[in-house]
Amino acid sequence: MTPSQIASIQAVYKSRTPCSFKAFQLSGQVMPGVAKGAYYYAPYPITIERAESCFLYDLDGNRYVDFANHHTTQILGHNHPAVIRAVEDQLKQGIAVGSPMGKETSLAKALCDRVKSLDMVRFCNSGTEATLHTIRLAREITGRHIIGKFEGGYHGSHDSVEISVAPDTKLAGSATRPKPVRGAGGMPPNTTENVIVLPLDNEIASEAIIKENKDRLAAVILDPRTGVIPQRFDFIRAIRDITRKYDILLIFDEIVGFRSAIGGVQSQCGIIPDLTTYGKIIGGGFPIGAFGGRKELMSMLDPTQGKPRLSQSGTFSGHPVAMAAGLAMLNELTSEVYDKLDYLTDRLVSGLTDVFKSTKTDVTVVASGSTFSIYFTAGPVRTYRDTTSADRQTGAGIFLALLNKGFNLSNGLVMNSLSISMDETHIDGLVGAMNEVLENS
Ligand code: PMP
Repeated sequence: MTPSQIASIQAVYKSRTPCSFKAFQLSGQVMPGVAKGAYYYAPYPITIERAESCFLYDLDGNRYVDFANHHTTQILGHNHPAVIRAVEDQLKQGIAVGSPMGKETSLAKALCDRVKSLDMVRFCNSGTEATLHTIRLAREITGRHIIGKFEGGYHGSHDSVEISVAPDTKLAGSATRPKPVRGAGGMPPNTTENVIVLPLDNEIASEAIIKENKDRLAAVILDPRTGVIPQRFDFIRAIRDITRKYDILLIFDEIVGFRSAIGGVQSQCGIIPDLTTYGKIIGGGFPIGAFGGRKELMSMLDPTQGKPRLSQSGTFSGHPVAMAAGLAMLNELTSEVYDKLDYLTDRLVSGLTDVFKSTKTDVTVVASGSTFSIYFTAGPVRTYRDTTSADRQTGAGIFLALLNKGFNLSNGLVMNSLSISMDETHIDGLVGAMNEVLENS
């Protein structure tokens, strides 16, 4: 897409969204641009007035079918009655009371009942906190401190893991022996000394690196859709076997996992990780994180037998409203719901693939569970490095052009998702809109 094509898409966008522009100007006076980096895209984001079912409504009265779903969290769509009811009931009982209210036990039980590898869980407020505490736990259990992570994997924004998430490949070494690259400013130079970066989709090269470092590695952390790219189940199983062989803990990052199945991705590929991290869906749209695993590992946090080996706190950890909302959302996620989401996702991916073929556009769509990402590159896309050739300018232009047609995707078109409040008309609508956008560009 050329700069002049993008300029004309932006002109339409600006004419449709003057109230969002005003809101953006105000926010820039008191925040560096927006409330968080992920909210920003050029020229400015739409500001949402309200959300209902699979729709968002902006300040200018425009309606959008929402394929972003708050970073995949809103699997039921917005304001699902079961979630609203649970939240309203909880608000009447108390918002934050500084003591257990029992809801956390119900949510913990719901997680342990659904996921074979979980005997026990602990709650925190975000996926970032979940991986932070899990990594501390792994270090305490093993007495080792190095963490292995895969290139392209995002596990939150703390210093142990924000390494080689989307590195400049000129700094990142070879594909089979990647070098750790700090992912954010402000991280001390020595943060890279505590992390070993592993090559994605390559169990042989990964094993060689893990074997070399086996006496230093506390854990390997793996997201089954590393870098928003679904990984081969064979690869995931191989990493489970390798970590077990060398007596290294496997932390499975299922922060998006309940998008795929009732028991998460681990149930689909038949592995039992040592520890698992959660976030997003399990809070029903409220801030949450959780981590869990076998009883003997989690008991390091147990304060009932004297000072625990590891402390984990957080003012709002186990917040009753998040617990109530999360439980309500999980209870809605039956196998019929997953079947419907899978059916709609297949329909969408095949519709989009046909459009890309007929418009002769070099695009690769990858999907996992009810999430999907669109990369403007011929593909195949199996690792982060495969995405570096994607035409991001075209991606940004198409994203804005789809907003102009009433479809909200994730900005960058990566990590989009469906919700159960959608049906074929919304899916076919997006396919049709993509066709129009590409035919006109
Ligand atoms: N791990 C994965 C796989 C994620 O997708 C995310 C969030 N996108 C995180 C960790 C961090 O979670 P949070 O944003 O809640 O801190």
